Amino acid sequence: MPEGDTVWNTARVLQRALAGARLTGSDLRVPQLSTADLTGWAIRESASRGKHLLLRLAAPDGHDWTLHSHLRMDGAWRAYAPGERWAARPAHLIRVVLRSPGAVAVGYHLHELALVPAAEEDSLVGHLGPDLLGPDWDPDEAVRRLAAHPDETIGEALLDQRNLAGVGNLYKCEVLFLRGTSPWTPVRAVPDLAGTVALAQRLLAANRGRWTQSTTGSLRRGGTTYVYGRRAQPCRRCGTAIRKEDLGERVTYWCPACQPDRR
Ligand SMILES: [Zn+2]
Repeated sequence: MPEGDTVWNTARVLQRALAGARLTGSDLRVPQLSTADLTGWAIRESASRGKHLLLRLAAPDGHDWTLHSHLRMDGAWRAYAPGERWAARPAHLIRVVLRSPGAVAVGYHLHELALVPAAEEDSLVGHLGPDLLGPDWDPDEAVRRLAAHPDETIGEALLDQRNLAGVGNLYKCEVLFLRGTSPWTPVRAVPDLAGTVALAQRLLAANRGRWTQSTTGSLRRGGTTYVYGRRAQPCRRCGTAIRKEDLGERVTYWCPACQPDRR
């Protein structure tokens, strides 16, 4: 599940593979960018902002540009050595190929692909709330933005990237379990918003640098979450069957005993 930590890791993979390199070829397989040719462009850096990936480039004429992509549920970037077989995913899912002397970066099933002047980067990510894994993470601002929607459910508010950027469905479910908060609790009734936000940040940060997302401390298959993906299985704390239901546009998992409904 690509959430803030996965995107942070992906940005680091691209940074290691491409930063400082000059592209020897490119292939952008989406209609709106099919005529763009990035050959000769220099890769300055790769960064993440919430769940958005920003590849910053310098064109041969010296102007700075940003190649933006979003992984949503199913996108991925991989870096290959030159000549290595691209085996990660089927070829028809390829949206971007960036070739450099030392590595080839391949983007699969990317969403919201856009190439914009660097000065216009904010048009793509300026709406985002504080980035949980950003160098400028601002927990007070995240709490302020959440609290500005008192009647919204905390389950939906945590997923709204305008409040804070980086939490996806897995971390939403897990944070609320660990805080003993029902996902249907209105924001105004959440006992400690600051504590909730701080825990979300710690969980994401703990998974930086690895691809297995664990909130339990276990990396064992089937043991990595408390409630997410565990419908009808016993709660690890109390043994009650974990439930799964729609909440807003997403499903949510929770333990009805550990997270009593306070609507
Ligand atoms: Zn329980």
